[in-house]
Amino acid sequence: MRVGGHFCPGVLHAVQAKDGLLLRIRVPGGLIDANQLRTIADGSLSFADGTIEITSRANLQLRAVRNQDLSHIVASISSAGLLPSPQHDRVRNIVTSPIAGLDGEEFMDPRPLIHELDRQLRAEPIFANLHPKFSFAIHGGPRRFNRDLDDIALQAVDLNSSPHLHLSIGGLSSGFMVKRSDAVECVLAVTKLCIGLASEYSVPVRAKAVVKIPDALKGIVDALSHLLTPSPVATPSHTVIEALMGVYPTTQDGRVSIIPSVPLGRLNPEQARYLADVSNEWEGDIRLAPWRGVVLGSIPKSAADNIVGHLQTIGLSCEGRDGFQGIAACAGITGCDASLADVRGDAASLAQRLLGHAVPSGWTVNLSGCDKQCARRHGATAELIAGPLGYTLNMAGSRVASDCSREFALDAVAALHENLLSEVAAQ
Ligand code: SF4
Repeated sequence: MRVGGHFCPGVLHAVQAKDGLLLRIRVPGGLIDANQLRTIADGSLSFADGTIEITSRANLQLRAVRNQDLSHIVASISSAGLLPSPQHDRVRNIVTSPIAGLDGEEFMDPRPLIHELDRQLRAEPIFANLHPKFSFAIHGGPRRFNRDLDDIALQAVDLNSSPHLHLSIGGLSSGFMVKRSDAVECVLAVTKLCIGLASEYSVPVRAKAVVKIPDALKGIVDALSHLLTPSPVATPSHTVIEALMGVYPTTQDGRVSIIPSVPLGRLNPEQARYLADVSNEWEGDIRLAPWRGVVLGSIPKSAADNIVGHLQTIGLSCEGRDGFQGIAACAGITGCDASLADVRGDAASLAQRLLGHAVPSGWTVNLSGCDKQCARRHGATAELIAGPLGYTLNMAGSRVASDCSREFALDAVAALHENLLSEVAAQ
C-alpha cells in the first residue's frame, strides 16, 4: 500500500487530502452489484466520512479515511471483489452507457465487451502501469454520454444489422471500424502501440498525446490493418446526452430503469443501501453513471411508483426539480487545501435557489475552489472559479465578473437559469 499526496488515487494508492486519505475504487463500466455497493456503504460509515462519491468515469471514491483504518477498508474493498488485481488497481477507466443492454436505441449490448476488456487488461502486466487517467469507452449505439475525450473509444455503427464498432484514438476518428468479435483484441493492440510510441517519443502514455506525434495515427491504423476495415462514416453520428433522470422504459418487457438525481454525485450509506436492497429484491441491477449518478436498471414497472416515492424521501428525487441537476463542485474547502471557497456549500445554495424549477436543456454549472478547476466540464453553461478575492464568473463561455461575492455569482446564475427557461417557454 502506498500513501502520498502526489499521485492519482487508487485503493492501494491512498492520497493524503485535507480531510484524510482519499481512495478511488475501480468499477469497470460502472457495473457494480448490490453486495459490493453495500460493502462500500458500510466501509464509508465505519472508516470514511459517510459518503460515497461517484466519479465522472463512473468509479467510486471514499474520503476522510483515517490512517489507522486504511488496512481495514482496503481488506473490505478487496473482499467485495473490487480489487481483483492489486497490480491493476489504477487501470480503471472503462466507460459505457449506464443503460447498456436496456436501451432500445442500441445496436448491441456493450457489457460483454466491457467485462472481457477488463479481464484482459488485468491479465497482462504491461498494462499495470498505464496512466491512471487513461480511459476506454465502448458505446453500443448512437446514444452517448458527454465526456472529455477518451483515449480509446469504440462506438457501434449499424451496418446491415451487423454491428461493427468505429474506432477513435485520442479523440480523433480513425476512419476505420472493427468487428465486434475483434473489438477487445483491437483495443488492447492500440493500447500497446500507444505505450510503445509514448516511450519512443517521451510523451505521456495518453492516446491524445500519442496522436500528436506525426503520422502516429496512420501508423497505428496500418499496424492493425488485419483487424480494421474502412468505416462508411468518418465519425458516427451520436446523440450526446448530459444526464438522464426519471423512469425509462427498457428493452425488457414490463421492466423500467429508475434514474434519480444524486446531489453532487454523493450518496450517503442509507441511500446506497436502499439502492442495493431494491436491486436485490426486484432482481434488477445497479450502474454508476458518468454524470456522477446512478441507474437502477431492470426494475418491474409495477414496483416503480413505490420505489420512486421512497427515493424522494431519502433525498434521491427522480423529478428533476431538486435544483442539483447539472451542478458539479470540486472537493472544496473541507477536502482540499487549495480551495478558496466552500464550493459544495455554495452549490447547495444554488440548488436551493433553483429548487422546484425545471432544468433548461444542457444546463451545467461548475464550481471550483481554485483555478485548477478539477470539476470542470467543457462547454458548461456557467463556471464559478474561486480566487483570493471572490469568484470569477463565466457564463456561456464569456467572463461576466471577477472577484465577485458568492451572493452575486449565485444570483446571476439563478437569473440565467430563469432567462433560459423563459426563452424555452416563449418558443
Ligand atoms: S479545483 Fe482546486 S480547490 Fe478544487 S479540488 Fe481541485 S485543486 Fe482543490
